[in-house]
Amino acid sequence: MLLNQILEFNENFVKNKQYEGFQTDRFPNKRAVIFTCMDNRLVDLMPRALNLQNGDVKMVKNAGAMITNHYDSTMKSILVAVYNLKADEIFVISHHDCGMSNFQMDNFMDLVKERGVSEETIANLEKDPKEWMEGFVDVRTNVKESVDMIKSHPLLPDDVVVHGLVIDPATGELELVERGYESE
Ligand SMILES: [Zn+2]
Repeated sequence: MLLNQILEFNENFVKNKQYEGFQTDRFPNKRAVIFTCMDNRLVDLMPRALNLQNGDVKMVKNAGAMITNHYDSTMKSILVAVYNLKADEIFVISHHDCGMSNFQMDNFMDLVKERGVSEETIANLEKDPKEWMEGFVDVRTNVKESVDMIKSHPLLPDDVVVHGLVIDPATGELELVERGYESE
């Protein structure tokens, strides 16, 4: 079982002091926040492809690197990173072949029902899934929308720059979609 494997490995990791070399404080060394997708292909590839070491950045992730509104948990994380943790540069990095691209809402709800959630429960949800379970159509447009959502937040200071990029989940190659410095 995975949990047991993890616990067993962890015990040795600590015992052998393998944490040495990872030690840092809670302030990001590069004063930056990366907001990206939860995709497993990016877990190790992205930090290596961007030359990020432990402690360099605040990393915020969700499905699709999407921000639904100014008050979602991503915005909360970004604002805390900016005000309390001294980050002044934000990188939104979406990726090709994302599971949230062309996300099919109807298909998703069919899966929910197949797993035993009743029609009644679905009908009584506080919010219509169509409003918050959205995906995106075009990856670059998605990046721009997330960048705009961050930049237009009333609590974001003017001196914080927001960049938009797309990463290839196979090669780690970055494509610049929006350079934050130019829009200052
Ligand atoms: Zn993704």
